Amino acid sequence: MDNREAMTPAVTNSEVLVKDLSVPRTSFSLTQKNESLHTKRKIICFSDFDGTIFMQDTGHILFDAHGCGTDRRHILDQQIHSGERSFREVSEEMWGSLNVPFDDGFEVMEKTLEIDPDFQEFHKFCITNNIPFNVISAGLKPILRKVLDSFLGEDESSHIQIIANEAEITEDGSNWKPIWRHDTELGHDKELSVTEARAEAALKCEDGTIPLIVFIGDGVSDLPAARVADVLFARRGLRLEEYCIENKIAYIGYDTFADIQKEINNIMIEDEKKTRGLGKPARFNPRANMWRRMSSKAAVPKLVAATPSKEEKMFLWPEAFSEMKISHSNLITEGVVA
Ligand SMILES: [Mg+2]
Repeated sequence: MDNREAMTPAVTNSEVLVKDLSVPRTSFSLTQKNESLHTKRKIICFSDFDGTIFMQDTGHILFDAHGCGTDRRHILDQQIHSGERSFREVSEEMWGSLNVPFDDGFEVMEKTLEIDPDFQEFHKFCITNNIPFNVISAGLKPILRKVLDSFLGEDESSHIQIIANEAEITEDGSNWKPIWRHDTELGHDKELSVTEARAEAALKCEDGTIPLIVFIGDGVSDLPAARVADVLFARRGLRLEEYCIENKIAYIGYDTFADIQKEINNIMIEDEKKTRGLGKPARFNPRANMWRRMSSKAAVPKLVAATPSKEEKMFLWPEAFSEMKISHSNLITEGVVA
């Protein structure tokens, strides 16, 4: 909310106007674009790729044009949804159906893919404000890198770390094989990747600071990672948002990355005002931070350290806490003493 708007005086005598001018304001203008906000809090962004940064799915474009085709892909997708076959097994069949050299396959992606109209501006904002932006995807890393290089240019693309599966692709394109990141049914355990990155970031932070983890996504496959973020953005009208509503998971909806930029701007201002970057972020997800206590060297018995507090249980099993008023603000802004 714009503070000036909230503080508009109802009366117009000069005394009130003078008083109004003295009302403390935030140090930063909300309309500021791509200028450093000098926040002390370390913010780290993790973002899904397909359907989030780009409006389409890179795999689907390839399978439809050079692989199993749309009809077979829909049957295979159905097998994942019904639980008949695992995501990993079906994905291997889809990637294995491709018969096209890497560069030729890329041509159709370049023609079909549409980037979120505000992503590039958002990414520049991240660079300016020293916010690491990481892609976290169930897709194949060589494809994602080439797409980013092509749409953003290699220099800008090089700022983005990609956490995804590797791939073996023969030169003639007759064999495409994902090299899965984790030995799980999903092939890439996004929750584990975010948790690891969070731990790594915390180690690099100065004493007394805790990084704020942001996750941006669109689909149900983003949920495991979304659950361990402090702030979650879900594309409006898609499955991740639907799932968050059904399961009372706090999230912020977005139509484009401009909405996300505005919100992160506000979060940085709020955090700087409330914490000066010290201790826990103003928006803090205790569930996401359980790893810290569980892996702590503190001299408390492990079982005690791992027992969730009441607030953590609310995050773990929200349906069991129906008396709790679930709202966006109380879920993600309430700090909980661990
Ligand atoms: Mg997606």
